[in-house]
Amino acid sequence: MEPFVYTSHPGRIVFGAGRLRELGDEVARLGAARAIVLATPEQRELADAVATRLGERAAGVYPHAVMHVPLQTAQGARDYAASLRADCCVAVGGGSTIGLGKAIALTSELPIIAVPTTFAGSEMTAIWGLTEAGVKKTGRDPRVLPRTVIYDPDLVATLPPAIAGPSGMNAIAHCVEALYAIDGNPIVSMIAEEGIRALAAALPRFVADPADAQARSDALYGAWLAGTALNGVSMAIHHKLCHTLGGSFNLPHADTHTVVLPYATAYNRDAAPAAMARIRRALGRFDDGDAASGLLALARALDARTTLAQIGMPRDGLQRAADLAVQNPYYNPRPIERAAVLELLERAWHGAPP
Ligand code: NAD
Repeated sequence: MEPFVYTSHPGRIVFGAGRLRELGDEVARLGAARAIVLATPEQRELADAVATRLGERAAGVYPHAVMHVPLQTAQGARDYAASLRADCCVAVGGGSTIGLGKAIALTSELPIIAVPTTFAGSEMTAIWGLTEAGVKKTGRDPRVLPRTVIYDPDLVATLPPAIAGPSGMNAIAHCVEALYAIDGNPIVSMIAEEGIRALAAALPRFVADPADAQARSDALYGAWLAGTALNGVSMAIHHKLCHTLGGSFNLPHADTHTVVLPYATAYNRDAAPAAMARIRRALGRFDDGDAASGLLALARALDARTTLAQIGMPRDGLQRAADLAVQNPYYNPRPIERAAVLELLERAWHGAPP
């Protein structure tokens, strides 16, 4: 066994179909009585239903979460929470909504109860993000780690397949990079491999039939593991590229992860053989002898978009993306070289074999 450091993170996980009904008890368990309920405009109805369920424990609903937490949105939510004298945040939604809860917690230390409705994994992490003048800043802070997470698989039943598939691939990306992280450790690697196994087995079934209760429960279990892996170790080239492409070219978050993942995996193919073996083992029927092409086969089975061209990346932006990606040196199993990164991006743009 190689030497390692493992840090565990506190947090209470309540998992199971229908367990949203326990939200009021979970608010009370935190000693809170005035929750601000956060959601996107699209999920306002769900937020209103949650507030109704909370009764007197709901102080107000703020249904204005948007992707990447613009500073103005964060400030609006912070002011509203203060005006309500809220004593906890209930964030019901995907990474955008949970990210808004984190923005509130960052300045107020309000405890967060996260009720995820996608597979993005933000609910398990102490990573916050805020966007100002088009530039997204991220950081880690224990104050933003949700105190309680309620995983209720019934809530993902409404995910359209075009969001569900990429969201699941986003989760798998956390697991893939955890397997070759510089600060990897045996516990996080076990979690990551099991996360890929659960997601690769469940996502095709879920996307084919969102009414399949077992499939959505298994997929959400995988997403929990993936979020845990993301929080446990540092990410590498894949997350750096997605951050660059999303932030500077305004590409959709989960779709960008879906497109880039096979190519980032291929980039590290020879430099991280143990990780590749674990990814292949976890891919089950999608293992075709190569981790990168197995991941691409899984994305295709989910009917996801698999080229940068398809998700709106301008071809003449690839050079600038490569420049940005190599700007701040960071760890990756294979050294980051501009020419190789540009080739990766070119292949991903065209959809060439990874
Ligand atoms: P999202 O939260 O932006 O949601 C995408 C869309 O799907 C929204 O319109 C939302 O209302 C809708 N939606 C969500 N759940 C639904 C459901 N069950 N049924 C129907 N519609 C639903 O998407 P996301 O991919 O979950 O989050 C992306 C954001 O989260 C990005 O900003 C990303 O950077 C951030 N993120 C942060 C972390 C972290 O650890 N801090 C981790 C992962 C993602």
